Amino acid sequence: MPEGPEIRLAADRVENAVAHRKIEVIEFAFEHLQPFERRLRGSIVNRVDTRGKAMLTHFDNGWTIYSHNQLYGRWYTCARGKTPRTSRQLRLALHNDRRSAFLYSASDIDVIKTSRLQEHPFLARLGPDILSENPSLEDIVQRLQSSTFCRRQLGALLLDQGFVAGLGNYLRAEILTLAQLHPRKRAADCTPGQIDMLARLIIRITRRSYRTRGITNPPSLVTRLKAEGLEKRGQYRFNTYGRAGKACHYCATNIELDMSGGRKMYFCPGCQPSA
Ligand SMILES: [Zn+2]
Repeated sequence: MPEGPEIRLAADRVENAVAHRKIEVIEFAFEHLQPFERRLRGSIVNRVDTRGKAMLTHFDNGWTIYSHNQLYGRWYTCARGKTPRTSRQLRLALHNDRRSAFLYSASDIDVIKTSRLQEHPFLARLGPDILSENPSLEDIVQRLQSSTFCRRQLGALLLDQGFVAGLGNYLRAEILTLAQLHPRKRAADCTPGQIDMLARLIIRITRRSYRTRGITNPPSLVTRLKAEGLEKRGQYRFNTYGRAGKACHYCATNIELDMSGGRKMYFCPGCQPSA
């Protein structure tokens, strides 16, 4: 499943394609949403936001399209008059006079009054989105130290969209390795310095992945790996995620994979001691 940075990049593409010009045609595949075609036609998309893995397409007449891609949903954009080449099922199409945005395969789509978004059951339980809402370092530190979250194991906590929205499996692995915290540790077990570093890394690595389109390793490490002949993106983008049995780039210990939580959890026993 794509994580926050990939969803934010898709939101940027949709925004660049259809925002700020009048929507001339809008089409919903689901019958219960078709009455909204008339309501949204002729209005303007102001902004496309993300809330974790959900996308919010805001119109200037007070309505918002909520969409969640789940596993298969995918946005395409192209020049008006063209259609993407795909065998997926079209769910939503937005056209202005120049460009079009198409959402395929997603089944979780809704049209909601912008002023009532917080009442949406999925959105209401989400933590702050690092890339659309820009929570401060203090916000994240406070959440880590709060009674709601401080006793949760960090590995599970970082995937909980109610803590921070948009982190998934690869961001979790890279953030915890750089923070030098074992996934089974809890915020309640950490020193104030460790909490501060973890909060910084949650923000920094998510933003870096957005900026670099999915490369979480620091630029200096990427440069070193490329100089060592690891020139393919798949060879230098991550230190930990997907690298079980391979040497950690920081300490040369082999990366381990723990499946006990039901999802693949990668970590470095050298960088992230359990004690
Ligand atoms: Zn290591």
